[in-house]
Amino acid sequence: SEFDVVKFAEDITEDMQSLAKKEQQIVFRHTGQGHLVTLNSSLLKNCLINLISNAIKYSGPDSLIEFRTKTTGSYLTIIIKDNGIGIPKEDQQHLFEAFFRAHNTGNIPGTGLGLNIVTRYVALMNGKVRFKSQVNEGTTFTITFPIRPNFPGN
Ligand code: ATP
Ligand code: MG
Repeated sequence: SEFDVVKFAEDITEDMQSLAKKEQQIVFRHTGQGHLVTLNSSLLKNCLINLISNAIKYSGPDSLIEFRTKTTGSYLTIIIKDNGIGIPKEDQQHLFEAFFRAHNTGNIPGTGLGLNIVTRYVALMNGKVRFKSQVNEGTTFTITFPIRPNFPGN
């Protein structure tokens, strides 16, 4: 159903900030005119919690996590960017497989299921997940959804 994506993202930012490490800052920013989108908000919320939890878990105690939403007439784009440990190039092709964990996770706990679920949920919403990552520099996840334009008469 239809909801205000900015209000939605601000609430998630607040919830996730309380789970972040001591000096980590989650910064939210929206660009674009429209705030209303039609998507399954519980599936979307689950995806964002997974991605922001990963950003928190796989980056340092005083790092910055950028959370951005952007609306255009026909797309909603969501970006989650961290300055964390990054994902080794040779592991990137396996990232969405169930139970897969990259080789640089050391003793950071996890089951390797979060991203597999994210890709399934995003696919259910007709969206696409992409990422870019560099070891010791950070990771950026981008999700793009087609959204119904909000023009009068539509
Ligand atoms: P969980 O099932 O609890 O989420 P997990 O975090 O290990 O466990 P995924 O979220 O599926 O599993 O992520 C899979 C792997 O991808 C992680 O184990 C980690 O190696 C890598 N990864 C995911 N997000 C990041 C990130 N933001 N920075 C660095 N590595 C990441
Ligand atoms: Mg995870």
